[in-house]
Amino acid sequence: MGQSLTRVPGNAVRLTVDSPVTALRGVGGQLAARLARLEIRTVGDLLFHLPLRYQDRTRVLPMGALRPGMEALVCGQVQLTQVKYGRRRMLLSRLNDGTGTLTLRFFHFGAAQQQALEKGVWLQCFGEIRKGPATLEMVHPEYRRLAGGVPEPATTLTPVYPATEGVGQHTLRRLVTQALASLLPEPADEHGRGGIAELVPESLLARWSLPSLREALDWIHRPPADTDLRGLEAGTHPMRRRLAWEELLAHHLSLRRLRHQRRCHRAPVLEGDGALVAAFLRALPFEPTGAQRRVLAEIRRDLARPVPMQRLVQGDVGSGKTLVAAGAVLAAVEAGWQAAVMAPTELLAEQHYHNFRSWLAPLGVQVAWLSGRSRGQAREEALQAIAAGRTAVAVGTHALFQDAVTFAALGLVVVDEQHRFGVHQRLALREKGRQGDRRPHQLIMTATPIPRTLMMSAYADLDCSVIDELPPGRQTVDTVIVSGRRRAEVLARVRHVCRAGRQAYWVCPLIEESEQLQCQAATETAAMLAEALPELRVGLVHGRLAPAEKEAVMGDFKSGGIHLLVATTVIEVGVDVPNASLMIIENAERLGLAQLHQLRGRVGRGSEKSVCVLMYHAPLSARGRERLAALRDCNDGFEIARRDLALRGPGEVLGTRQAGLAQLRVADLLRDQDLLPQVNEAARILLQEYPERVPSLIRRWLGDGAKYAGV
Ligand code: ADP
Ligand code: MG
Repeated sequence: MGQSLTRVPGNAVRLTVDSPVTALRGVGGQLAARLARLEIRTVGDLLFHLPLRYQDRTRVLPMGALRPGMEALVCGQVQLTQVKYGRRRMLLSRLNDGTGTLTLRFFHFGAAQQQALEKGVWLQCFGEIRKGPATLEMVHPEYRRLAGGVPEPATTLTPVYPATEGVGQHTLRRLVTQALASLLPEPADEHGRGGIAELVPESLLARWSLPSLREALDWIHRPPADTDLRGLEAGTHPMRRRLAWEELLAHHLSLRRLRHQRRCHRAPVLEGDGALVAAFLRALPFEPTGAQRRVLAEIRRDLARPVPMQRLVQGDVGSGKTLVAAGAVLAAVEAGWQAAVMAPTELLAEQHYHNFRSWLAPLGVQVAWLSGRSRGQAREEALQAIAAGRTAVAVGTHALFQDAVTFAALGLVVVDEQHRFGVHQRLALREKGRQGDRRPHQLIMTATPIPRTLMMSAYADLDCSVIDELPPGRQTVDTVIVSGRRRAEVLARVRHVCRAGRQAYWVCPLIEESEQLQCQAATETAAMLAEALPELRVGLVHGRLAPAEKEAVMGDFKSGGIHLLVATTVIEVGVDVPNASLMIIENAERLGLAQLHQLRGRVGRGSEKSVCVLMYHAPLSARGRERLAALRDCNDGFEIARRDLALRGPGEVLGTRQAGLAQLRVADLLRDQDLLPQVNEAARILLQEYPERVPSLIRRWLGDGAKYAGV
């Protein structure tokens, strides 16, 4: 490690971005260990540890202008310092600057401090202003004695960094300042080591009027006093955007590289005579829609090529994605290969298992079931059949990819409703199914439409198909918004619908953080409903039921034995009971629009007019009302996703586990989406004219996250 230090004339130690933090003055083993908790191991890490916000200590504010809540730098003379004995012993010091009075309050203090604050001393203080009993106050401010009474404001804004125990702001500021001051200038030294290399070519910086990286980092760590602070904190300042630009570029390049590398990988050619797929389509009780046919054809074209398919199928709830998946699975089987179908929840996996078995068994195709909870002999048999290739299709949860499971000849992996999967999980899954140098094809199905801008960035490694047509005869679902105070009316509606021979869902979304409490809430709701509606049979499903129990309840609901099904959001995806025509969603204001739309998609699957009741916990904020109204007035999942994205941002819409997004440190896909076309173009130029810079750019921003890039 020590060799990345470079001695320059004058014997001062100069740093490179690769120097360990211990190369900085004052950083020993203990501090280095604490810094590592912030993912700071090298000088470069430190420079990319960016401020969360800033404090303005560049201007001394007159005390008369202070307001509670603001952070301020003030300068005044001590008029009185005394120890007070209330419930706690404390030190109070009153300052005056000629425009007003301010009290400093300390709960921890020593005799020396008390002496330092003696009457007549001039102090400069920084802290948050609070309203005290008599005057405005600062509690435990940072302060300094001023010899001549002349304030010494800072010349730059003061950064506030993400910190951790034992590494405070003071330390971070000191280290960053030191690092910036002693970093080697560009270009790199004779060993190829240097300061922060500018990886974006001059011509591109000029074309989009971008500052250099060094300039941007200097600004961000030490913005000049007159900087537009609001813009800097909101991420719209040009210096901040410069970093976001480069970060998006790095992500984009890494996804493009993945896509490119995929073309160099081999996959089995899944091309049969078409007989199985044709027989399957013929046996369906309905005609596939044009969109289903088109997407299936796109998939089959991919499967017939010797490179691994990586295709995302987007389709609104109820657009019939399962059928398309089944068609793809049969294309694999027909070619003599196996397929795995993976669902995110046990419930959905079970549902798929039943669907696939009922479709595939008549065609003589074996389907196995494998979940995290399958045990004993059934599990052993399933595992053996999969390993021996006797079973062509395996359906299950992520348990399908545990170590114990080996496939004889896995040709296709279908991942359903798993938009929360990041690029790394997708790749890991593909590697798991690898046999020799061949990787299985991958099909990803999602009902959460992904807007184009996101598709270009977070999903740039995928090809995309859209099922943009619903099966004919679908009823749009009427959506109504009611207060929880009108529960009695809602109950009457449930009774009415169920008496007419229809069925209903009652959804209790996550309110409690813990699954256990959530299930408890659903259990209580079910008991309440059973009591209020004694003539109806009320069922209950939640995540904690044993699979057999869950299956029994769902089976009962499907066959009409249960009128009203109380459920947690486990039914969000996949459940298909066409006779259900009413859905009540409690605390609807707490859910995202896309999720509500998903839930709503459970009704409106039959010929009957269906209704979704969004019940909110009063009072509802104006914004909350606006959101629910947006859902009521719109039935198009794509449009809803766009609005959801605008209201909540991509992190929440796509889930925090969306690895490609979670890694963004500076950029924000929503805020910075106007940069994406530039980034796209810049990526093209870099790959063509400066390919040697691409790996460094990716490593700088994705670090270890790019470890799959070589697979
Ligand atoms: P999703 O896209 O939400 O996963 P599903 O695959 O569960 O949708 O399909 C929803 C329902 O529509 C199922 O009952 C399915 O049998 C039915 N379905 C699928 N395709 C068609 C079609 N072309 N015509 C009529 N019904 C269809
Ligand atoms: Mg589905």
